[in-house]
Amino acid sequence: MIERERLVLIGHPVAHSLSPIMQNAALDAAGIALRYEALDIEPKRLAETLEKLSSGSVAGNITIPHKRSALEMMRPISALAAAVGTVNTFWSDDNGHLAADNTDVAGFEFLTIETVGETPSNCRIAVLGAGGAAAAVLAAVSGWEGCTATVHGRTAESAAALSRRFSGFSIALAMSDAQLGEADIVVNATPVGLRDDSQPISIALIAPHAAVVDLAYGSFETAWVRAARENGHRASDGIPMLVRQGSLAFRRWFGVDADEEAMWAAILNATGRTRHRSGSPLAR
Ligand code: NAP
Repeated sequence: MIERERLVLIGHPVAHSLSPIMQNAALDAAGIALRYEALDIEPKRLAETLEKLSSGSVAGNITIPHKRSALEMMRPISALAAAVGTVNTFWSDDNGHLAADNTDVAGFEFLTIETVGETPSNCRIAVLGAGGAAAAVLAAVSGWEGCTATVHGRTAESAAALSRRFSGFSIALAMSDAQLGEADIVVNATPVGLRDDSQPISIALIAPHAAVVDLAYGSFETAWVRAARENGHRASDGIPMLVRQGSLAFRRWFGVDADEEAMWAAILNATGRTRHRSGSPLAR
C-alpha cells in the first residue's frame, strides 16, 4: 500500500461535501490512520496551496471551481483528463510531481448502468449543460457503441464549443429543444436543482421510455428525479457517481481497492437515504 502524509479535498465551498464522510469510512475500513480534510481554497490561492502540499506525499480530490484550473497546474495528467479538460483526483508521484486523473467519467458510466441496467449501446443521450461534468459525460458516451449525443446549453456558444471537442457523435442544441423527445437517456449536468427544487427542463419534454440521470446530489433526491420517477421514468441522482469516482480515486492514492460498501453505508447513514437501484434494460 502507498503511504500518504495528507489526504485533502480542495474546493470552494467545501463545507457541504459528503466526500469526507465517505472517504473517512474507506480509510477506516482499510486501516489507514489518516483523515480526509476538506480545504476551502479561493481560486487565487489554488496555485500556492498546491505548491505547499507538493512538498510531502499528498493525495486528494479537486472540486468546483478548480477542476479546470488545477489541470494546468499538475503534471503528468492522464490522457482521459486531458480529453475531458478537468481533473478531480491527484497524488504525489515518485518524481515529487502532482499527477492527476479524472474519475468522474467512470463514475458517470457506473451511475448510468445503475439506472438503466447495462452499458448503453445504439442510444441517443441528451446532456443538459456544457461544463466540466458534461464533458465527462461525453467522454463516457464516446466509448459506448453506436451512441450519439445532443448537448443542450444555456448559452449556444458553450454548447457548440463542447460538441466541437467531441465531434463526430455530438451536436449542440438549445436547452429545451424538441429533439429532447428523441433521447433514450437525459442527463442533467447543470447545477440546477442542487440547492432548491428547480428543474433543468420539464419532464414532459422527455419520451416515456427515456431514463433520467441527474449528476446533482444531496441529502435528498432532486425534485427532477422525483418528478421523473412519478412519471414512470427510471431515474437516479448523482450519489452512485459520487461513490464510484471516490472509490476509483482511493485506488489511485493508495494502490489498493476501497471498500465501496463501507462508503455507501457511510453516505446512506449520513443522509438517511436508501439505495435506489432502478436498473432495467432500455426498451424503446
Ligand atoms: P460547470 O463546469 O460550472 O458547468 C455547469 C454548466 O451548467 C455550464 O454549462 C453552465 O452554463 C450550466 N448552467 C449553470 N447554471 C445554469 C442554469 N441556471 N440553467 C442552465 N444551465 C446552467 O460545473 P460542472 O463541474 O460541470 O458541474 C455540473 C453539475 O454536476 C454540478 O451540479 C455538480 O455538483 C455535478 N457533478 C456531480 C458529480 C457527482 O459525483 N455526482 C461529479 C461532477 C459534477 P454556461 O456554460 O452557460 O455557464
